[in-house]
Order: sequence, then C-alpha cells, then structure tokens
Amino acid sequence: MPPTATMEDIKAYFMKVEKGQITAQNLPACPCCNLEALHFKIHAYRERRFLVIVDMIVESVHGPLVRFRCPGCGKTVAFYPDFALPHKHYTRQSVAGFAQRYVAAEDTSYRQAVMVNEEKSVPEYPGGEKSLAPSTVHRWVTSLSGFVNTARCALSLICRQNPATSLCRDLAQLSVPASKYKSFSRKERLLSCFRLLATEAIFKATFNLSIFTNLATRCAFS
Ligand SMILES: [Zn+2]
Repeated sequence: MPPTATMEDIKAYFMKVEKGQITAQNLPACPCCNLEALHFKIHAYRERRFLVIVDMIVESVHGPLVRFRCPGCGKTVAFYPDFALPHKHYTRQSVAGFAQRYVAAEDTSYRQAVMVNEEKSVPEYPGGEKSLAPSTVHRWVTSLSGFVNTARCALSLICRQNPATSLCRDLAQLSVPASKYKSFSRKERLLSCFRLLATEAIFKATFNLSIFTNLATRCAFS
C-alpha cells in the first residue's frame, strides 16, 4: 500500500492554521509584480476536501487552505501544506505513491497499480459505491510529470550537497517499457514523472525532507 498523509499530519496543519502560524515566507515572489512574498497578506481561508486512505477506505476530511494576496498588484496565491498538491484531493503521498507503482514497475497496468494488497483490492469510498479509479493514477502521472522546474532545482541541490552523486547518470538511464505508451509525448511524461520520483527519493535521503515541503512551493509547483 503506498503511503498516505495521516489524519494526524492533516490535523497538525489545521492547528497551525488555527494558530495563525501559516506564513507566506516560503512562497515565491509575486508572479505578476515580483514583490517579495514576505509582504503578502492573508486574503482568505478556503475550505478544501482532502482524501486520506485509511485501512483501504478513502476518508474525506475538510479544512482550510490559506490564500495570500500580493499588496502590490492584488494577485492571490494559495499556500499548500506539504501533504497537499494544487488541484488534487488525495494527499501528495498517495499521488506520488500510486504514480511510483505505475512508472517504476516493468509490467504494471493502471488497473493493477490501484490494487494494493494481496487480495488485489482497490481503496474504496465509504459505502463501497466508488473506488480509486485507474484513470486517476493516469492523471496523477501526468500532473507529476509537470514538476520539471522542481525536479531540476532538487537535482542541483543534491549535486551541490554531494558532488559525487551518481543521480544524473541514474536519471539518464531510467526507461519505461514501450507497452506503457503509444506516443512520444506520453513516453516523455512517464519518464519525467519517473525522474521526479527518483529525485525525490534521493532528496529525502540527502536532506531528510520531501521536495514538496518547501522546494515545490518555491518553484510555484512547476
Ligand atoms: Zn504582485
């Protein structure tokens, strides 16, 4: 079973929101007027649904995302805690974990990627009327393949910290079987996702942090 953020992680974040401890400090400068994020003001708290897989059940938990406003031009930006990704309800750990199951395995289909235990069962919504769809994992792979800037920054930080790392070579050698794509663009997406996840693993081992804790935020999730 791929990892998930726990209810405790999410509640700890809600508590920080409650106590006013979420700041714009790690956000990138305003994309419109380039004003430093430290000048941003809290704009709104937007209710958001997060989905956490607990014992094969997809549990829903609601809580706020903090939006900041740039006083220079009025643009608003959201702050994402490290278990959340823009436009995703499932936690970042689930998104990355299921995508990894698909891209890193020789012969796993999307259908197989959502079957997580020996009984080949799929995480279900309460009541069992709906379950995690294979097409969702397809979309997650697509989304993660877009974090090109984040992956590049992470790689450069790793190389600076450990100049002898073989990561560049290892990334160049990653491949996906031809059975997993029908077009060149899909192949590139699969590889890009695979490289991001491989970089994330080394980043975690090097800095004891996920690239999604601060780096992805600073790279504006690009
Ligand atoms: Zn601005």
